[in-house]
Order: sequence, then structure tokens, then C-alpha cells
Amino acid sequence: MTEIKKLWHFRQNNSGGKYTGPAYNIVVEGDTIEEAWQEAEKLGATNDGSCPCCGDRWNDANEIKSRDYIIYLDMAIEDRTYTSGNLPLVLGCPEWRRIEFRVSMDFDNFSK
Ligand SMILES: [Zn+2]
Repeated sequence: MTEIKKLWHFRQNNSGGKYTGPAYNIVVEGDTIEEAWQEAEKLGATNDGSCPCCGDRWNDANEIKSRDYIIYLDMAIEDRTYTSGNLPLVLGCPEWRRIEFRVSMDFDNFSK
């Protein structure tokens, strides 16, 4: 029998004034935050090249514990002001666990 792992959310900080790949948000499984970060790195997340004044591009993860967990998108992402292209909003989460959180943006005419 396989234990179900915890689910973790890494939100990208637009270090240096821009976002890079592989995605704006990474959601991965891991028994610990360290294991989750290893999974995120496999997907391409890195803190190399983060701006010293803005801090690490990928900060600590939050554990996703229920459907009440909401991943908020901000306007800069939606209008791609600070992006280097067309990045996925959320990457890494196994399809069957996508019901464990919601993706939301609090602006008129926008709901996901
Ligand atoms: Zn900076």
C-alpha cells in the first residue's frame, strides 16, 4: 500500500522584475518540504540567478491541506507584464490531486 504524500505549493517570486519558467506555480508531492523542493527542481525550478535584493525566486513552500487552499494569481501574471513568455499557471500536480486546491484571481470577469 502506498502512502499518500503531502502536497506542496511553491509560488514563484518575480525576482529581478520578471518571471521565468517552468511555471508561475509549482505543486508537487513530497513527504517533506525538502523532498518537495527536489521534485520542483526536477521540473526546472532553480534559485540560481535570483536577484539579491528581491530574494530567492522560489521561496518556502506551503503545504496544501484542503480544498480551501487557494492559489491566487495576480494581474501581472494575467496580462503577462512581467513574464518571459507563455508559462503554465500551475505545473507538476498529478491530475487526480487537482481537486485539493483552487486557482483563483480576484478581479472582475476572471475566475478559474
Ligand atoms: Zn531585485
